[in-house]
Amino acid sequence: MNNELTCNQVIALLSFYVEDKLNSRLKEYVDDHLRHCTKCREIYMQSKKIAKHVLSLVNYDEETANTFYTKQYEDFKNNLSAYVDNELNENESIRIKKIAISNPLARKDLEDMYNFKKLLHNSFEKTRTEWKNDYSKIIINSLQQKYEYSKIDPFYKLLGAFTALITLLLIGFFATLYF
Ligand SMILES: [Zn+2]
Repeated sequence: MNNELTCNQVIALLSFYVEDKLNSRLKEYVDDHLRHCTKCREIYMQSKKIAKHVLSLVNYDEETANTFYTKQYEDFKNNLSAYVDNELNENESIRIKKIAISNPLARKDLEDMYNFKKLLHNSFEKTRTEWKNDYSKIIINSLQQKYEYSKIDPFYKLLGAFTALITLLLIGFFATLYF
């Protein structure tokens, strides 16, 4: 079997190679290729750097989690929703605020909670607006219907004509009085 890999094949295998997940034979092929292909070696160095960086981030997060997962943080978590809903008294509220300032886990939770609230609020507002629009439509429709009914009601036509006649008579009456 020809064990010469192409550049594309090596690049496809690179992430497994970096994580040391290839079987020994494939690993050897990649090793061979990297030894005499500067282009792939360059890419390999970059991936290794990125992988190391990502790993350090993961470790940092775990470290942060271990450091800040304290009794205080648990107290914070238990009171978070009450705090956001303004249900705590002043002293409790200040205590929770202080934890949020000093503890990055708490700060993150608070942010998430506010974002969640905002999301809920937005969707509620949206529903309310839609409902309002529907309600206006119902009113407009019923008004239109009313208007159309009155338009075809002969009683209103007669009433209108009668009022006009009376007005003309009155004008004529006053005109003969004053001129
Ligand atoms: Zn190559």
